[in-house]
Amino acid sequence: PYTGPSAAEILKKRQQYLNPAIFHFYKNPLNLVDGKMQYLFDDKGRRYLDAFGGIATVSVGHCHPDVVEAIVNQTRRLQHSTILYLNQAIADFGEALACKLPGDLKVVFFTNSGTEANELAILMAKMYTSCSDIISIRNGYHGNAAGTMAATAQSSYKFNVAQSGVHHALNPDQYRGVFGSDGLKYAKDVEEIITFGTSGQVAGFVAEAIQGVGGIKELAPGYLSAVYDSVKRAGGLCIADEVQSGFGRTGSHFWGFEGHGVVPDIVTMAKGIGNGIPLGAVVTTPEIAKVLTSRNYFNTFGGNPVCTAGGLAVLKVIEKEKLQQNALSIGTYLKGLLSDLKEKYEIIGDVRGRGLMLGVELVTDRQSKTPAKIETALIMDQMKDLGVIIGKGGFFGNVFRITPPLCFTKEDADFLVDVMDYTMSKM
Ligand code: PMP
Repeated sequence: PYTGPSAAEILKKRQQYLNPAIFHFYKNPLNLVDGKMQYLFDDKGRRYLDAFGGIATVSVGHCHPDVVEAIVNQTRRLQHSTILYLNQAIADFGEALACKLPGDLKVVFFTNSGTEANELAILMAKMYTSCSDIISIRNGYHGNAAGTMAATAQSSYKFNVAQSGVHHALNPDQYRGVFGSDGLKYAKDVEEIITFGTSGQVAGFVAEAIQGVGGIKELAPGYLSAVYDSVKRAGGLCIADEVQSGFGRTGSHFWGFEGHGVVPDIVTMAKGIGNGIPLGAVVTTPEIAKVLTSRNYFNTFGGNPVCTAGGLAVLKVIEKEKLQQNALSIGTYLKGLLSDLKEKYEIIGDVRGRGLMLGVELVTDRQSKTPAKIETALIMDQMKDLGVIIGKGGFFGNVFRITPPLCFTKEDADFLVDVMDYTMSKM
């Protein structure tokens, strides 16, 4: 049994000593003590089904034994920086990761986070093209350092500091966007940005295959390949931010961009790559990677032995346990159940996503699509009390984000939807 400080004591210390801007889900925040695969346990030993841990970092299950073993073994042997010395762990994981990517995407740079990965990708695009204009999509999230905060396009994540050089294109949002599902019409906006907002040459374009923080928004069909063509014609590089949509989560493909039939010039990843340990990566072609040789570029702990040993174990587990296939079958099943729920409750305006990256958007009125922000928070809180943790996102905070560890089962999906159904029925 748990003998540590109470939730109230931890909250008090957090309020006194830690980031005052940080928010927590739930009126009474959970004090989480243990995790096992798709389950979390609080200080009272209560079990919760974790249908959000996937985005928060855990891809193959909390404390997956294979990943824990790899990390512990490497910690016992050696933990160090890999800048100056050789070590097997980084080389093996670099090779395994490169093998998962198509075409010439064969050179890996390791970082400690998604922000660092996107910063590096943007830097490389600027260096390679000798240009500085970047295009990103409105409602996207790419990080919170200088370059990535500029690329991020939601005011709630942008501080009032200089953020120049990024043009934010129309979001090809099939639910709220002006052109509905017509991807080519949204893609024209990128053409116009290049024509009227730049010299005609750009450094690059960065986008998520499915916007995560933005509320599980899938890009309208046809959009990405048309935009990639425009950006390439303008001499720019195409960056795929796979921080949330990578590692089999979308089910049909290992990487989100593959669902759009494109091959990026640079791919960035983090979160699920290490099942919860601080790790990120940028993968690009040998030709683009070479631009960094004009100066010294290093990252003290990016790709350290402990994290890369963990990363390699994650890749092996995804294959051994056929987790991408599981994301496809369970995700499709779960999306079906959620779509049935939409027939039952007017408050559900939209159900979307692929694999185990699903979104449920709540509206007070289906015609005006007014975001049901308060109801979203309330339902989430009550579902927590019934033992199910889901996430929330979207600019208006009215979208449930369902992104569980990839080991989620059919029974878990049934339980989640039963609990959501019961909670909505009591509203
Ligand atoms: N890209 C995407 C798509 C993300 O969702 C996030 C984090 N929410 C990041 C980048 C930044 O990652 P990190 O928080 O590890 O810096």
